[in-house]
Amino acid sequence: MPGRNFLFVPGPTNVPDRVLRAMHRAQEDHRSSAFPALTKGILGDLTKVFGTTKGQAFILPASGTAMWETAIVNSLSPGDRVLAVRNGMFSQLFIDAAQRLGMQVDVIEVEWGGAVPAAVIGERLAADKAGAIKAVLVVHNETATGVTSDIAAVRAAMDRAKHNALLLVDGVSSVGSLDFRLDEWGVDFAIAGSQKGFMMPAGLGILCVGPKGLAAVATATCPRAYFDLRDHITHNANGYFPYTPSLAHMYGLRESLDMLLGEGMPNVAARHKRLGEGVRRAVQAWKLDVCAKDASTQSDTVTAILVPSGGDAEVVRDIAFKKYNLALGAGLGPLRGKAFRIGHLGDLNELMVLGALAGTEMTLNDAGIAVTPGSGVAAAESWYRESAK
Ligand SMILES: *Cc1c(COP(=O)(O)O)cnc(C)c1O
Repeated sequence: MPGRNFLFVPGPTNVPDRVLRAMHRAQEDHRSSAFPALTKGILGDLTKVFGTTKGQAFILPASGTAMWETAIVNSLSPGDRVLAVRNGMFSQLFIDAAQRLGMQVDVIEVEWGGAVPAAVIGERLAADKAGAIKAVLVVHNETATGVTSDIAAVRAAMDRAKHNALLLVDGVSSVGSLDFRLDEWGVDFAIAGSQKGFMMPAGLGILCVGPKGLAAVATATCPRAYFDLRDHITHNANGYFPYTPSLAHMYGLRESLDMLLGEGMPNVAARHKRLGEGVRRAVQAWKLDVCAKDASTQSDTVTAILVPSGGDAEVVRDIAFKKYNLALGAGLGPLRGKAFRIGHLGDLNELMVLGALAGTEMTLNDAGIAVTPGSGVAAAESWYRESAK
């Protein structure tokens, strides 16, 4: 099909030409004397994206899922009790990883579409007088439902309960796009990956660990080998890695960090908020519902749209792909067939989003879900015009 594929899944996201060109490199010696400059620059700049001056960033050839494992095995000991919130597919998989790694997981169930209930976490921790709970596991931006949770509120609840548990936060679809403040929110382990806000191909796990998390790395007794952060701490200090790093990803990340920090993280977050609001207004104009119930929790990086009963979201996705070269995100788990997602994160601007909204609008009508042609695009256009600087 001529023309560009409109990639609007919430990861992998569009890789900017600048990043693609930067990744197109001949291989080089990762043990050369020139190499540490690249490593140190990347790891230093990464902490700015995570909002920390006290934490330490890590990169591993892996993906976001592996960073769940890395955070768990480097912070906990076999059989530890942890408290986790299940409010969507990614929080479910985070819980699953903790269970498979031998943790006892107390699960707080939240209806999909709901946010992390900070108050409930606070109650559970306050009731745990013996301090049996060693960590709290939450997903900042639940990519399956398009819900952003308030991590500052989780931290406040933990502090009010005067509980010493570690805070492990999955920020795979938020870090690099949404406001993220590791220091201010007291996040001990923040998990990310290369193919969402960092606008790169998948293949790099990104992690940032706060001071209390770093202390836990030294005392945790989970067996670990490839993901042992102690080896990274030792080698990274000199600008090297315990094993062969992915050079292409490192050069890509260098470029992506230059783009993000050049734009400025507050501006990056503001751009995502503005683009996301356009998508929400379009959905409203179509008279469709989103999965995220509470407007204040609706994500600026992904919107999960429910198809009316009788409709099939997988049919919508297939028509969009085959007819308009538009890739929309699938409904995950119990939302399969019931919802599709529009990813609006990464290297995007207004006209790109409007193109995706036009394609979605045409597709919905093709799939027998009647929406007024042009209504969503018009609503988003109005918003983009009125909110333009
Ligand atoms: C994409 C995603 C993951 C999984 O990351 P992979 O890179 O696919 O392993 C984990 N958590 C969230 C919130 C995600 O959006």
